[in-house]
Amino acid sequence: KLRADFVSMASHQLRTPLTGVKWFAELLLRGKAGKLSIKQKDYLEQISISNEKMIELIEDMLSVSRIESSERFKIESKLENVVEIFRQVIKDQTAILNIRNISIENDRNCPKSLLANVDKNKLYLILQNVIENAVKYSKNGDKIIFNIHVADDQVIFSVIDHGVGIPKYQQGKVFDRFFRADNISSTHPGTGLGLYIAKFLVEKQNGKIWFVSTEGKGSTFYISLPLVKGKS
Ligand code: ADP
Repeated sequence: KLRADFVSMASHQLRTPLTGVKWFAELLLRGKAGKLSIKQKDYLEQISISNEKMIELIEDMLSVSRIESSERFKIESKLENVVEIFRQVIKDQTAILNIRNISIENDRNCPKSLLANVDKNKLYLILQNVIENAVKYSKNGDKIIFNIHVADDQVIFSVIDHGVGIPKYQQGKVFDRFFRADNISSTHPGTGLGLYIAKFLVEKQNGKIWFVSTEGKGSTFYISLPLVKGKS
């Protein structure tokens, strides 16, 4: 408990000064303190990028400490249309999808609506982590496909990308805290916490998360949750 409290407090304390750095770097970049030389602008942009990375890490560490301090952690399930939750996650990615010219389409067998008993916010976070990864590790112009189907009283979500894939020899570590594969660690930003958080949240709902991946060809991530159907 002491450790979780410490991480949570340290993260909160770090967030404030980092937000200050972000704010003042932005002001300088916008020329609010005078015109910048090309070199000054370049250095400031590097400061901003490093700062953003730290903010992302702090946010993820806060999420981990939040979910790991079990007293406050509660699953609140209700009957929800899970297709709609999936679509919302995708809609919230529109900006980055447009910038990178990536499209996300549903499989033609994907139902238009499916009711299941889930914790909406937690499912959103799980799908967000998996979809953000599919986008991040795809190439510009790629297509991502998602699907939802029911099998053996489970609702199964899948996200297929045609991106960089995960090296075979590291596949056993993908859900470990801070794991980042060798093929992306120096080229793509990230904290290595997203899938750890996703797995934690899936398992708290008695579900499973797994993947198949081929380096250089792409990955498919699957999430299954028990389908407790209600009246529709
Ligand atoms: P990160 O912040 O690094 O994306 P995650 O915990 O979300 O952290 O993922 C852990 C690692 O798993 C990533 O660093 C990457 O090496 C690999 N990975 C996850 N999703 C994908 C994907 N769709 N395609 C290729 N590699 C992936």
